Amino acid sequence: MISAPVRIVSPIDGSLVAERLPVADTVLSAAIGAARAAQREWRKRAIPERAAFCLAAVDAMLAMQEAIVPELARQMGRPVRYGAGELRGFAERARHMVAIAEQALAPVDPGPKEGFKRWIQRDPLGLVLVVAPWNYPFLTAVNTIVPALMAGNAVLLKHASQTLLVGERFQAAFDAAGLPKGLFQNLVLTHEQTARLIDTRAVDQVNFTGSVAGGQAIERAAAGRFLGVGLELGGKDPGYVREDADMAHAVETLVDGAFFNSGQSCCGIERIYVAKSRYAEFVERAVALTKTYVLGDPLDEATTLGPLVKAEAAAFVRGQVESALRAGAKALIDPKSFPRDKVGTPYMAPQIVVDVDHQMSLMRDESFGPVVGIMAVSNDEEAVKLMNDSAYGLTAAIFSKDADAAQRIGQDLETGTVFLNRCDYLDPALAWTGVKDTGRGVTLSALGYETLTRPKSFHLRLG
Ligand code: NAP
Repeated sequence: MISAPVRIVSPIDGSLVAERLPVADTVLSAAIGAARAAQREWRKRAIPERAAFCLAAVDAMLAMQEAIVPELARQMGRPVRYGAGELRGFAERARHMVAIAEQALAPVDPGPKEGFKRWIQRDPLGLVLVVAPWNYPFLTAVNTIVPALMAGNAVLLKHASQTLLVGERFQAAFDAAGLPKGLFQNLVLTHEQTARLIDTRAVDQVNFTGSVAGGQAIERAAAGRFLGVGLELGGKDPGYVREDADMAHAVETLVDGAFFNSGQSCCGIERIYVAKSRYAEFVERAVALTKTYVLGDPLDEATTLGPLVKAEAAAFVRGQVESALRAGAKALIDPKSFPRDKVGTPYMAPQIVVDVDHQMSLMRDESFGPVVGIMAVSNDEEAVKLMNDSAYGLTAAIFSKDADAAQRIGQDLETGTVFLNRCDYLDPALAWTGVKDTGRGVTLSALGYETLTRPKSFHLRLG
């Protein structure tokens, strides 16, 4: 069967960036064979050898930065002034996972036992499928690709239709690094082909980053197949500003956390709770800062807020705001003060909404756009209750001068990461994970290697 071409339509102006045909099934079968053959050799290579290939690929990717930055803007709307940041994070994560590989992959010694030799080694799984989203297309993909290779696996990448060229950049980087042929392959796959790879156990592990609906489809395909499934899904991440917070820092950090990448960040700030005594001050400063954003063409260096990925995404966020307003909320930003804002297009002014409550979709459902709701709270208990009142749990950010209080509050938060005085950030030395509808599994840190290897015990009676 011949599938329709996948088209990348630019959010900038609706122009066609590129189109690609999904691979034919015969090509897909050959790709799996080549990956498996390459992996059988690769797994025998020493970790420093694997590291040399991966680090060379990182360098090769960075060497393409000048072309990648505007290409990324055309594909998904990230302003060019921030494009280099994506590659910086990509390199940081890759290099960190390479640096810790030897230790993270070392065999576990259970301790001496007379007359026995025993250890638990970490064997590669075999073939790992990475399904990546468009919103941070290099960062999300590298979280699995580099550690999977370092652990001795082969990797197939199915990148988002919106950012297919990112998959091609990965391929070019690994090719330039001289990675053995077939070990890493970027493939244009339909959803049906992706599901089939899982359902037939053609792969041994799938790491999916994307929507809850997509994660559910992957889990359905994997049901009864006993392969590993890592799911990094959505978020509705909260920030909490305590009475003792450094207000300038809290405002600057949380507003950036809400609007960076036009709010299209899994760990972007979507809800803010502020101690009653500081609420008016916070809101006033946040509104003033929000008004300074420059909404426009992401290829323009002056632009600090690009379009959303699609007109439908902007329509969804506008709908959430309108519905909140009908229920009594108040919007504090006049979209008319952002000349580029236009209903029916992906260009949308940032918005701050107050007088909100948790009955509103705006405070419950992932917006994935440049909008944030702000509520006042009376104390830590109320803040914790509201922060936990969500179907998601990726990160939660506390702003306070009291680190002990933050630790105490953090113990009660249902979340993958607790931040103090920062947000919308990912430290590759820590486990990236979530609770509830945010999915399950872990990437990055030493724990990320656990899901890309299987334990194998050796129990040798000597003599
Ligand atoms: P999406 O629609 O689920 O797509 C993500 C990836 O999955 C794309 O490659 C997509 O392919 C593929 N996909 C979707 N449904 C599929 C299916 N039924 N079978 C096979 N493949 C499927 O998500 P998105 O809208 O691009 O990304 C935004 C979401 O990702 C947000 O909810 C965000 O919070 C989440 N996210 C989470 C993290 C995290 O670390 N937790 C990081 C980034 C993003 P196509 O593009 O071809 O449809």
